[in-house]
Amino acid sequence: MTNIDYTQLAEILFPNVKATPEEMEARFPARDLPEGACVSRLAPSPTGFVHLGNVVQGLTSERICHQTNGVLFLRIEDTDAKREVPGASEILIEMLSHYGIIFDEGAALNEEGKICDKGNYGPYKQSQRAGIYHVFAKKLVQEGKAYPCFCTEDELEQFRKEQEDEKANFGYYGKWAKWRDRSIEDIKKELDAGKEWVLRFRSTGSIENKFKFDDLVKGTVDVTENDIDHVLLKSDGIPTYHFAHAVDDHLMHTTHVVRGDEWLPSLPFHIQLFKALGFKMPKYVHIGPLMKMDGTSKRKLSKRKDPELALSYYKQEGYPTECVVDYIMTILNSNYEDWRRANPDAPMTDFKFSVKKMNPAGSLFDIAKLCDVSKNMISRMSAETVYNSVAEWSKEFDPEFNTEFTKDSEFTKAVLSIGRGGNKPRKDFAVWSEVKDYMGFMFDKYYNVEGTYPENFDNDTIVSALEKFAATFDTSDEQNVWFDKMKDVAESLGFARETKEYKANPNAFPGHVGDISAFVRVAVTGKQNSPDLYAVMSILGKDSVNNRIKAQIERLRG
Ligand code: GLU
Repeated sequence: MTNIDYTQLAEILFPNVKATPEEMEARFPARDLPEGACVSRLAPSPTGFVHLGNVVQGLTSERICHQTNGVLFLRIEDTDAKREVPGASEILIEMLSHYGIIFDEGAALNEEGKICDKGNYGPYKQSQRAGIYHVFAKKLVQEGKAYPCFCTEDELEQFRKEQEDEKANFGYYGKWAKWRDRSIEDIKKELDAGKEWVLRFRSTGSIENKFKFDDLVKGTVDVTENDIDHVLLKSDGIPTYHFAHAVDDHLMHTTHVVRGDEWLPSLPFHIQLFKALGFKMPKYVHIGPLMKMDGTSKRKLSKRKDPELALSYYKQEGYPTECVVDYIMTILNSNYEDWRRANPDAPMTDFKFSVKKMNPAGSLFDIAKLCDVSKNMISRMSAETVYNSVAEWSKEFDPEFNTEFTKDSEFTKAVLSIGRGGNKPRKDFAVWSEVKDYMGFMFDKYYNVEGTYPENFDNDTIVSALEKFAATFDTSDEQNVWFDKMKDVAESLGFARETKEYKANPNAFPGHVGDISAFVRVAVTGKQNSPDLYAVMSILGKDSVNNRIKAQIERLRG
């Protein structure tokens, strides 16, 4: 190795950096937290695409922190200006808060809804922390652990080609690490000529060396030492993810790094970097990707192919956020589902979350299961809650339906009360966008006058049944009286009064009382399936029922 004065090199590269690492340590002192309290963070890049992965990682960190009376913070990783979308951080905070992911600290929204810093470990936007990274970069240079590299894109591309030809590993190492051992004079010459440079880590690792590392989800993993001189600072002085991760998670006193397992290949470098900087390692929670079944095989959920990856999808379709959260908990912890069954009304936070129960290979996301969870949870909500949620959802996503739905709130709530409560509540819809289909017929605007009647009955028979029924229908009737009238109609038309009777002797009757109620159902609701017909008719009221039946009689007569 060339004998060069690293202190001098550090001064040449960072003449304006006066602060010391010790001053940084003093500025961000250890947190005053109870024993065992975890500190974690969500560290998204503000690309504008908020996805299920954010919720999965966010919930995992949130549970780890809040279950231990620790701190959850939000750090915005905006080191890639090209990918940044204005307003993305604001949207992210907004969206995540709906999923119960509330940060104690970090990037937050002020009263005007703009991004601000909350807490003592900021700034929480990486683009505003350049000065801090440079202090540690200078230290690494002083210690001979980092050096400037002036290679151009073309040169790097050339190395890549050579490596391809030689079937060598890719990267900046060995004979390709052109600037690793250059003299101060060489470096000065490039600097004086105004050449751009990046700061590289001087790796002392060897791929011959392997060791074990404990990940809280993956278990013990085999790690091969890193021998690449990765970039720490880009030519604009902004750090790469790796360097920012080490500096920030150290100074912010993160105890648990929860992140996607696409970072696992970088772990050897991160371990090396923490050591070189003299930092204590955090614990790692590497989460596998969300998978879905595609035919008979599993694949990662993809932004391009799967609209359900985007959080906006759930908002648009009207999935109650608590249902999405509950379903995500079932895929995060294998024992959550049983716990939920035993504690249907308990808040999710009562569950003892454990990273040990996470699937190292990633979770299977099945929208049909999400719908089951959602149907279950919605069936346990009060009519009032459903009403408010549908009103809010439809205001944004189906204003026309919203007008009908909210016109007479007592009427609408009465409809939503049908089959609600009791031990076996009805499970009619999983998302708010299904409510129109479920109960739209209660509003004349959506009532289908072209309903299809059961086959095998001629119009004259249906018309007679409807006429007879309309003549006796009375909204003050109890349900049994109402049904007896239905039976009377059946009998008067030669139909069986009881289904049983019909089944015992099907050739003796043209049909049974169930067919009569099916005629009435189609006439009143426009559909062959509807919520409880007696309840529907009572809520609609005599006039509305009679008008609909009358119109149907005319239609059937042709
Ligand atoms: N910005 C990184 C990402 O979105 C953060 C990874 C981490 O949590 O450390 O993948």
